[in-house]
Amino acid sequence: MRKKLEPAHVGCYNPSEMKKLALVFFIAVLAPSLVLAWLAVRSIRDQQFVIERQRSLLYQGVADSLAKEAENLLSAQQRDFRAQVETLLAKQNPGDAAQNFDTQLRANWPLAQIGFVVSMSGQLLCPLPSSSPEAQVFCSDNGKFLRCSEVAEVFLNNPKTGKNLIANDANVALNKVPQNYNAAAKSDAGYNSSLKAQQTRNIVLQQQINAPQGQQQAEQLSKLSSSEGEFCKLVADETEGALARFLENKLNVLVWYRSPRNPQLVFGAQLALDKLGDGLRSLLQEFHPETSEEICLAILDDKGKPVAQSLSKFQTNWKHPFAATEIGEALPHWEAVVYLTDPKALTKSAQTLKLTLGLLIAVLLVAISIGSWLILSDVKSQLKLARQKTDFVSNVSHELKTPLTSIRMFAELLAENRVADREKQRSYLQIITSETARLTRLINNVLDFARMERGEKKYNFAKCNFTALVRDTAEAYRPHLESNGFKFDCGSPSSEIPINCDRDALAQIIVNLLSNAEKYSDGKNEISVKLEQKSGPLPHAELRVMDRGIGVPRGSEENIFEKFYRVHDSLNSGIQGSGLGLTLARQIARAHGGDVTCEQREGGGSCFVLRLPITSQETT
Ligand code: ADP
Repeated sequence: MRKKLEPAHVGCYNPSEMKKLALVFFIAVLAPSLVLAWLAVRSIRDQQFVIERQRSLLYQGVADSLAKEAENLLSAQQRDFRAQVETLLAKQNPGDAAQNFDTQLRANWPLAQIGFVVSMSGQLLCPLPSSSPEAQVFCSDNGKFLRCSEVAEVFLNNPKTGKNLIANDANVALNKVPQNYNAAAKSDAGYNSSLKAQQTRNIVLQQQINAPQGQQQAEQLSKLSSSEGEFCKLVADETEGALARFLENKLNVLVWYRSPRNPQLVFGAQLALDKLGDGLRSLLQEFHPETSEEICLAILDDKGKPVAQSLSKFQTNWKHPFAATEIGEALPHWEAVVYLTDPKALTKSAQTLKLTLGLLIAVLLVAISIGSWLILSDVKSQLKLARQKTDFVSNVSHELKTPLTSIRMFAELLAENRVADREKQRSYLQIITSETARLTRLINNVLDFARMERGEKKYNFAKCNFTALVRDTAEAYRPHLESNGFKFDCGSPSSEIPINCDRDALAQIIVNLLSNAEKYSDGKNEISVKLEQKSGPLPHAELRVMDRGIGVPRGSEENIFEKFYRVHDSLNSGIQGSGLGLTLARQIARAHGGDVTCEQREGGGSCFVLRLPITSQETT
């Protein structure tokens, strides 16, 4: 009993070969692709970061320039104030002008909320608290400070240099510790406690909302610092200037001027900040880029409320601008700010970019996976083919060697006259003949296969009677089968079946099928051939070659027609073969417009069916 047979192709991939292949594939394709994908992600992220950074630098530049312009506007107002004072002093002497300076100034200069005159010796000449309610409030708020009987915390600004004055001379005690201006403003007298607090800005940039904590804190710190001093000492070294101070949490901006006509008198004004807003508004209109709907410019006051904005309908959380710059000591804690009208546009475009990139990478990975799968399956089939070819060479060598050995052995016996018995002589000669026929078949198969592979196989088509062809070939094979103990049954119709064919090629198919039926008989020596003429769907001849042997395993009925494919390989089954017989049979049949198929046979064994088209009677 033969052992259970395994398909010849199973286990034809060497695991170490596959591992090597996978490694090469990983090193050559997958790893570089993944690295490239990673680099692409990084570079696009960097690009996005650079774009965001550029945009923030651009708008920061806009905010800086706007702050500068606002500061210039204030300097211009200061110059304007000087001109107003000089005009007054040109008409009357300084002493007289000082008496009603407040009334005259307010009449001529709308920006003045109140006008004041103070002598360097610390005498407040104007306004008189009794002159108006505003004058009364002004005197109670600023009286002590202007009369130099109180040290106050102020922000100084010098219009000549455009920089804040650091009143740090020997006479003036200045404390430059940064402080929380809001807290400072709350307590006019008790500001000392606030000096210890860190001075922070009241806005947080939009970009820093999600920034790391430390960075956010650092950026929020104000660059401005306040100074402390008495009024007469703060103005002693300059002829004009501005100073700002917080009173009751409210910003007071004072401009002052000492005329060469009487340097002992300091003429000053508290600015009406709401009127200053008008000037800032027209500044913003000039400054706003005409075409840009992307940004809104604004000036925020010390409470973070908009004093002026370039797009009147724009509303937002004013505390979180995209870029901001402090205007300076002239207007402490006022900020020139830039808002994005659609802040989500940046995130949207970043998200679109991310999505596109994600898709690209996904497509790339899918392409790589498909490519890899194609390469792997191709390499697999190449490996399989290579293994089959090796098997083929050893199979063919075996097939050549076995008949040659018996031919040589029996020929030597006969040549040396060592066999006297006539019957034995005849049997030996028969063996030599059949082994020679087997050799011829094998060599023909190999040669034909080689021709077909090269596309050189030629057929000599001619009209012939297929019934006769089958009968002749079967009968020629009968002695061989019967001598090997086979019961051979050949059934064919009595009528002719006309076909157009290459006789030798068709005979080769029939012999190959008979030879297989014999080879794979598995001791059940029973072969039958049945030829029939069929009418549907098209008239054709149907030749069945049937045996009761080991049969073709289910699922392999098609595979056995592949080149070199052997279900029952020599090693497992001990049956010699090249894996070419059926490949050739099918190719020849198809070249004749027909086919060869394999069917399971009831009761065991296999059944190979050759179908060929019949030539119509008229053409025969
Ligand atoms: P081989 O030279 O190996 O016989 P073939 O192309 O003729 O090559 O057949 C391919 C495979 O098909 C064989 O190896 C065998 O496993 C299977 N086969 C062919 N004919 C039969 C049959 N009559 N019974 C069982 N298996 C068969």
